[in-house]
Amino acid sequence: MLYCSTRGEVRGWDFRDVLFSGYAPDGGMFMPESLPVLTPDTLRCWRGLSYPKLVVEVASLFIPTQLIPRADLEALVSAALSGFSVPEVVRIARLKEGLSVLELFHGVTMAFKDLAMTCTVRFLDYFMQKENRRATVLVGTSGDTGGSAIQSAKGLGGVDVVVVYPRGRITPVQEKQMITCLEDNVHVFAGDGSSDDIDKPLRRLFADQELVKGHGLMSLNSVNWSRVMIQLAHFIYAYLEMSGVDQAEAGEPLPVLEVVVPTGGAGNIAAGCIVKQMGLPLQLVAMVNVNDTVHRTVQSGDFSMAANVRQTLAPAIDIQDPYNMERVFWLLSGGDGALVKSMMEEFQNSHRHTLPANLHKLLSDVLSTGMVTDEEILDTMRRCWEDNQYLLCPHTAVAVWHHYHCPHSPCYVATASPAKFQTAVQRAGLTFDPPEAVRLLDKMATRCLNLDRSLNWSKDWEDRLREAIQSISSARRNRVPYYNSS
Ligand SMILES: *Cc1c(COP(=O)(O)O)cnc(C)c1O
Repeated sequence: MLYCSTRGEVRGWDFRDVLFSGYAPDGGMFMPESLPVLTPDTLRCWRGLSYPKLVVEVASLFIPTQLIPRADLEALVSAALSGFSVPEVVRIARLKEGLSVLELFHGVTMAFKDLAMTCTVRFLDYFMQKENRRATVLVGTSGDTGGSAIQSAKGLGGVDVVVVYPRGRITPVQEKQMITCLEDNVHVFAGDGSSDDIDKPLRRLFADQELVKGHGLMSLNSVNWSRVMIQLAHFIYAYLEMSGVDQAEAGEPLPVLEVVVPTGGAGNIAAGCIVKQMGLPLQLVAMVNVNDTVHRTVQSGDFSMAANVRQTLAPAIDIQDPYNMERVFWLLSGGDGALVKSMMEEFQNSHRHTLPANLHKLLSDVLSTGMVTDEEILDTMRRCWEDNQYLLCPHTAVAVWHHYHCPHSPCYVATASPAKFQTAVQRAGLTFDPPEAVRLLDKMATRCLNLDRSLNWSKDWEDRLREAIQSISSARRNRVPYYNSS
């Protein structure tokens, strides 16, 4: 199993290389050079497997045993998924009128990113421990990614995590999940600015080759192939549990399951498209809020960004650049790297591109879409509560809106717990008792360093972070905690 870039200029990398890279050197994203096939027999054979066992099966299609032997892979996945609040890890809520909700939010930070982040961080740590090296993961977060990276990596011996979040612009629960982590391989910075403000110094740090090479600096957003790969598993799990495949006789065509996904950076929906291409009979629906790039692209081929991100009640999908769509374009074009390169370079330079007609046709065949306003999010949360006494998070409501407007019986992906988004719950006129884990956060000690808005703040933040990364490394070499030494 080897990997190539969606922009056609890099081939022949193995899983380890890809795991430690963000973007490919040609600016593209990594994909397997050829996708394994899921035959009906394989799917029948996987019926009844638990979610963690399915993760192992899926990962072993993409990670050769020479890199991670099967027994190690099983141990890593099992450790990664051990901290979830329900034993099945992923749960399906079956509500009235055939409404089924795939709950992916039972990890420590109560968002679906925990599923793939915990496994990916364990893979990193595995290679680092084996090679007696360390990696430094640098994450700028607008909400869920930072907490998930921190909670996945805390206490591990092979990775340090440095997270920068925009102070005052994330929810109190998101903030607490980061700053209550006192482990000495976790370093949290609160920047006085927006996530775009944080992005700039981070980009300059990633462009500093000496820093990147010298300190094993890496990113962990959903550009990383490993995160997308793990996300294939929950689609397969949903399919095996919900499509009725267990009733299909051998020789009959497999039933199709429709899966509706709230979509932001499009990592989750890209995973759906990949696993569908591998043979899983899915019909996919990507739902967005008023940040509707994916919706316009599928409806009319208009792949363009608005000038500004609009703030909504579903902040984790307030994204104008659904960067994982590049993987989908590459798949649908039959792996045409030159085409994807010219499309994406135009999109990056001018923030707009019109899809070629044949690609647009292929895209609208595999994906349907819908767009949901804040009012519709609140209506959906209220209606689902009235019908079922079941509370949706605002992102999940973006998906479930589809149920009330195009009713049949697909699977709706729940990406976060409502406990994380109390403002939206209140705005809907509903109440929700926060779970024990959330109430405990208020009592815990906190630690973080501030990045203030000085005159030269962007350069100052860059310098502060560079210095932190260097001191973390040297503290490691001397085997003392960075926090005590600073
Ligand atoms: C990250 C996130 C999403 C969006 O997932 P993508 O893979 O970026 O499309 C949706 N909901 C929640 C709660 C998230 O944290």
